[in-house]
Amino acid sequence: MSEAKEKIEKSDEEWRKELSPEQYEVCRQKGTERAFTGKYWDCHDQGTYHCACCGNELFSSDTKFDSGTGWPSFYRPIAEDKVETESDNSFLMRRTEVICGRCNAHLGHVFDDGPAPTHLRYCINSASLKLEKK
Ligand code: FE
Repeated sequence: MSEAKEKIEKSDEEWRKELSPEQYEVCRQKGTERAFTGKYWDCHDQGTYHCACCGNELFSSDTKFDSGTGWPSFYRPIAEDKVETESDNSFLMRRTEVICGRCNAHLGHVFDDGPAPTHLRYCINSASLKLEKK
């Protein structure tokens, strides 16, 4: 059985205690950090990006690319089951939300204008990520 399918569930109060105010706002309240303000949009270090809430491995630096958006962008997750997607029709837009496959943290959105080989662009908040450098 996949490790990512062991769900982690905590109350809002528990998350609020464990996370920074910005992490809580983004990950648990579906907030969005301002473009070009997060710590990873311009990061070129090699390593693995983990979920800031539960430590789930999400993205490899090998799949990170400069999207010009001001948010860290990846063309695919480390494995299919590491993230899940949900349709998001908030703010009068049709978008696909990306959440952590283990703790349901809001990570960002995925768009279909990314580079080869997937042509996907996972547009992720730095606040949702924690880089473990190689
Ligand atoms: Fe998580």
